[in-house]
Amino acid sequence: MPMFVDHSPAGECIFCKLVKGEIPSAKVYEDDLTIAFMDIGQATRGHVLVASKRHAVNLLELTPEEAGAVMQTAQRVAAGVNKAFDPDGINIFQANGAPAGQTVFHFHLHVLPRFEGDGLSVVWQREEPGFAVLGELAEKIKAEFA
Ligand code: 5GP
Ligand code: ZN
Repeated sequence: MPMFVDHSPAGECIFCKLVKGEIPSAKVYEDDLTIAFMDIGQATRGHVLVASKRHAVNLLELTPEEAGAVMQTAQRVAAGVNKAFDPDGINIFQANGAPAGQTVFHFHLHVLPRFEGDGLSVVWQREEPGFAVLGELAEKIKAEFA
């Protein structure tokens, strides 16, 4: 399962190096568990990444405390981005696994200010299978909760 393959062993991980200050970054915020910095490739003007300080490959490897902390930092950053750039909207985007679009295998989420006509799109085809199927799907997930 590609999602669980660590493509970037901690010693070589670009975001671990960034956390340690071994490579330059435009830092926005940091606390004990999280760090926020400008994405080197700006999808829209003001695009920020929020990462765990500890090397966790993806969402499933975060502790519950880290998961809470990254969302609190994302909210703080989103509020700052909102005041600084007055966007028309904001997306939070987070990829787990290469097929999902993850390219850096150290947990991070994207805070993306959105502007009318910015050309950025997230597109998927939807189907409505009905509540019988939705219920079965929900049961499968619930059965896996400890
Ligand atoms: P992903 O595709 O894994 O969701 O996002 C990885 C993001 O990390 C990309 O948007 C990419 O531009 C950004 N990135 C890759 N290397 C660096 C780096 O060295 N510094 C910064 N600030 N961002 C990086
Ligand atoms: Zn790392």
